[in-house]
Amino acid sequence: MKSTAYDESYTEQFQPQTRSSKPSLFDDLKPPLTETGAVVEASRCLECGGPYAPAPCTVGCPVGIDIPGFVSAIYRGEMMNAADIIFAENILGASCARVCPVEILCEAACVLEHEGRKPVEIGRLQRFAAEKALNNHNRISYRIPTRSTTSKVAVIGAGPAGLSCAAELAGEGYPVTVYDANEDFGGLVRYAIAPYRINRDPLPKEVQLIRDLGVDFKMGTAIDSPEKLQDIESEYDAIFLGIGLGRDVDLQYPGEELSGVWDSLDFIRMIKTGQKPKIGNSVGVIGGGNTAIDVAREALRLGAREVTMYYRRTEAEMPAYDHEIEEAREEGVRFQFLTNPVRFLGDEQLEAIELQYMKLGEPDASGRPRPEAVPGTEFTVRTDTVIKAIGQQKRKSFLSWIEKLELDQGLIKIDAQTGQTTNPKYFAGGDALNGGATVVEAVQDGKVAARGIAQFLGGES
Ligand code: SF4
Repeated sequence: MKSTAYDESYTEQFQPQTRSSKPSLFDDLKPPLTETGAVVEASRCLECGGPYAPAPCTVGCPVGIDIPGFVSAIYRGEMMNAADIIFAENILGASCARVCPVEILCEAACVLEHEGRKPVEIGRLQRFAAEKALNNHNRISYRIPTRSTTSKVAVIGAGPAGLSCAAELAGEGYPVTVYDANEDFGGLVRYAIAPYRINRDPLPKEVQLIRDLGVDFKMGTAIDSPEKLQDIESEYDAIFLGIGLGRDVDLQYPGEELSGVWDSLDFIRMIKTGQKPKIGNSVGVIGGGNTAIDVAREALRLGAREVTMYYRRTEAEMPAYDHEIEEAREEGVRFQFLTNPVRFLGDEQLEAIELQYMKLGEPDASGRPRPEAVPGTEFTVRTDTVIKAIGQQKRKSFLSWIEKLELDQGLIKIDAQTGQTTNPKYFAGGDALNGGATVVEAVQDGKVAARGIAQFLGGES
């Protein structure tokens, strides 16, 4: 075990200073470490854990990466070894390094944090090792299929759950075909996570690892009718559903057809596909989740002078992570709580929002206090642009095409040990199960379902 006596300011000397005071659209939220910076940061790790108990950071990682293992490999200068350890548990190890909320996962569990010190920067170290390997086109010994099987598996959805499931099964020798309506891979990672967290890279390189395992991709292929799904059912022995959620929830506010009113997914997708949404000086964001925070911070980066988030409960009930709320506040995003839109006003172009104050009532189905409108408190705020980020719709129509598939409030019910649904041929993972969680949890769902599928197809795992 290394000494804990360490001057944390020392690491700062090796950090690239790439952030300007006003970040641009694609500036990394957390700039990458230099090689020297990575080795110095890795030297802070105490290499906790042992044969009888894993390190707390590994316990805090949903896919169970051997974190002290890869961090100590970086410290020794064995960068490929470090990357192998990461990809062994997470085929999207480079993407997750950028988008994981490490502040509430591995880094929150780090013993240094519990000693009142800065935790090891596990996310940035993971990014350093994983990207170094991918950028050098190194052969990652993630999986080399040692056998082949004849049972065929279809994966619907090329998001993190689908990619993970496909990689695991292909590594076990199963022929796997991935279908997705989009032309590009990654699902929400590619199209709906703000570009200051991740743009396109490193997804294509990670997908190449999966292709190298023999996975066939049919991109731009929507399974959008019962007949197409029936064809897949006939052709494959098992099917994994990594279909995620649908479009933004449509609450149908009067005036939402006005120019200047956006759905959050359309707004982020436009930026991530190389276009620049036109926004005004004053932007209102409706919602209190992490996507709402993302679009608010993107609006500032697009040049808005003021961005205000309107949330119908109080800050205590906001679904967004606390650290994200704080960072948004530091960047200049304003928050107005207990406030809900009534309608959008304007003549073709949005000019204002009419809002109304709310109060908290008895708990609703989510367990949070129900927001109740306070009559007579309507007021108007001049606003050029509104972005609605209230959540995503469930894929009920698609799911209704599958026989005997049981849902719970529109979400797929599975056996947690195997990922198997109530229709034995179908397995599932990701947001369609949980209504929206982290990317790394979707990766883990894909791994669990791959093991379940292997068992279903003949007791193999
Ligand atoms: Fe290193 Fe922190 Fe994990 Fe311990 S808990 S092994 S110090 S990263």
